[in-house]
Amino acid sequence: MMLEKEIREMLSEYPDIIYGFTDISYCAYQESYRSALVLAVPYGEQLTPADYTEERFEQGIQTAKSRLEAIALEVEQILQKHQVKYWLPPVAQENETELRALFSFKTAAARAGIGWFGKNDVIITERYGPRVRLSAILIDEIFAYGQPITAGRCPENCTKCIDICPCKALKNQQWSIEKDRSEIIDYQKCNRMRSAFIKILGRKNACGLCLAACPFGCSEQKS
Ligand code: SF4
Ligand code: SF4
Repeated sequence: MMLEKEIREMLSEYPDIIYGFTDISYCAYQESYRSALVLAVPYGEQLTPADYTEERFEQGIQTAKSRLEAIALEVEQILQKHQVKYWLPPVAQENETELRALFSFKTAAARAGIGWFGKNDVIITERYGPRVRLSAILIDEIFAYGQPITAGRCPENCTKCIDICPCKALKNQQWSIEKDRSEIIDYQKCNRMRSAFIKILGRKNACGLCLAACPFGCSEQKS
């Protein structure tokens, strides 16, 4: 298919980016769109606990965010040329009570075969561990889909993310697709801690400690 070929060719110009397609028949948007293209852009800095600071982590997120926006724009231009219906779901959570996004990039990433939910409730990629920023574009077209990942691949004895969490929000649970988020993380605890910084920083604390601690992706860290 011409559309898919064009998208894949364009993305091949960014070899450090991980991407995949998934069908979205599992979610409420299936009536309007058939697929999602999920993009995972490595954070600007691949930090470990040894060099982690919240400022550097936040900066790394912002760098990845800018790159993602530029790449999404390129995808949009291709989609517009082919006159295909698409939508970029927002990143932000719908409200502060549920703290869930309208369309979960993480769920789509696991379905597209990009990674699994770690014991830190973040998508873990083989290449960068959890040090990626995700985005997705819903597209009303069919593509060659990735192989869905349905269970966590964290080593059973790894507790690095759990041990480093300052508010003990992680429950030491290996993920599987049937599990609810609440079985893995007390998200309110995590959010309360990060929100307490709004007064000081003018934004939530980016807290990436449970990402920095993850041993996956370490080979990429200092390159
Ligand atoms: S982001 Fe920070 S507070 Fe939240 S679970 Fe990870 S380490 Fe804990
Ligand atoms: S630190 Fe260990 S348990 Fe936590 S997400 Fe990474 S591999 Fe999984």
